[in-house]
Amino acid sequence: MSDCLIIGGGIIGMLTAWELQSAGMRVTLIERRETGRESSWAGGGIVSPLYPWRYADSVTALAGWSQSHYADLARSLTQGSGIDPEYTQNGLLILQPGDEKRATAWAKETGQTLQLLNGHETRECEPALSAVAETAVWMPQVAQIRNPRLAKATRLAIAPLVKIIEDAEVTELLIRDGGITGIKTAGDHFEADRVVVCAGAWSGRLLQAMPVVPDISPVRGQMILFKGQPGDVSRIVLHENRYVIPRRDGRVLVGSTLEHSDFKKTTSSAARDELKKYAIQHFPALEGAEIEHHWAGLRPGSPHGIPYIGPVPEIQGLYVNSGHYRNGVVLAPASARLMADVILEREPILDPRPYALDAPRED
Ligand SMILES: Cc1cc2nc3c(=O)[nH]c(=O)nc-3n(C[C@H](O)[C@H](O)[C@H](O)COP(=O)(O)OP(=O)(O)OC[C@H]3O[C@@H](n4cnc5c(N)ncnc54)[C@H](O)[C@@H]3O)c2cc1C
Repeated sequence: MSDCLIIGGGIIGMLTAWELQSAGMRVTLIERRETGRESSWAGGGIVSPLYPWRYADSVTALAGWSQSHYADLARSLTQGSGIDPEYTQNGLLILQPGDEKRATAWAKETGQTLQLLNGHETRECEPALSAVAETAVWMPQVAQIRNPRLAKATRLAIAPLVKIIEDAEVTELLIRDGGITGIKTAGDHFEADRVVVCAGAWSGRLLQAMPVVPDISPVRGQMILFKGQPGDVSRIVLHENRYVIPRRDGRVLVGSTLEHSDFKKTTSSAARDELKKYAIQHFPALEGAEIEHHWAGLRPGSPHGIPYIGPVPEIQGLYVNSGHYRNGVVLAPASARLMADVILEREPILDPRPYALDAPRED
């Protein structure tokens, strides 16, 4: 019998499992399909919220903690797995955000490095950019990580430490006398008096019958991938909620749509054309590059993107770590550590109250 079951093998579930195991717990992670193949695979891997000054302090707090630990995490994953997740600090250039004053004030308050650039400086910062911006916000310390590799490396690093069961969909939470006793899958059941739901966009559905249900629903995002050349793009560039992310090998990701949707990961030619047009408009060098891939993923949407990290009220031993919306990759290390702090009743890295299931969610 395990001390704790984790439901869902995305980046949140895997890092939560790792944190609890590191504290001495026997942990089993149960994944419906393959670990790290849903939202954590589909995303862009920007290690920052987009327009970070527009988020609630509770999101900024998680992001800040994670950002200060990401380089070490990437190093230890590379050592532990042999896979380099390509943590790369190549900066975030935000064209014409329109609320530069708010951005500057936020940076001062939070100690983030943020500069305002004029048109000339913007071109100097990213020479491949066509002349589209008169002003920009430049955040040189923002990093990216190659998220499919992050997920693969994490799986390999935790595999000797955590029992991982794949192709096993959790169909029922077993509750007796106000406490969790285990879970059921299609062909089996597992006992434990602690269970953490990390099922991404599917978490709300799994917790539907609970006394307090987190407001988590799928928000589809489509992305395209250009097979570019190194140097075609060198910064992460964000404009009007769309972004371009250059990988080290010259590949360039362009995303992403925001579609309040069902659970289908369908793609559309309209989105593909729109993302392609956006990319070429900003980076004419991509004109002749092949589009290698086009996909969709389901973000775990939540009110204001504030994740739920905490116990399910009235159900002893049942916890949730989910609802990270557009920022699950950046927020994952802090969310996993905080979840473990709460479960183990340790001194928490951050005040857990804003993430409680019944906390009011405000901008
Ligand atoms: C297009 C796009 C771009 C993004 N870009 C970024 C970015 O640049 N930076 C950033 O920080 N974030 C980004 N995100 C958001 C980020 O990817 C998510 O917030 C994060 O991956 C959520 O992780 P998760 O582990 O909660 O969910 P997931 O990765 O979806 O994992 C949940 C897992 O639970 C499993 N599961 C579900 N139900 C069950 C069940 N009943 N039984 C067993 N297992 C179950 C699923 O199969 C899945 O593997 C992006 C997302 C998308 C879609």
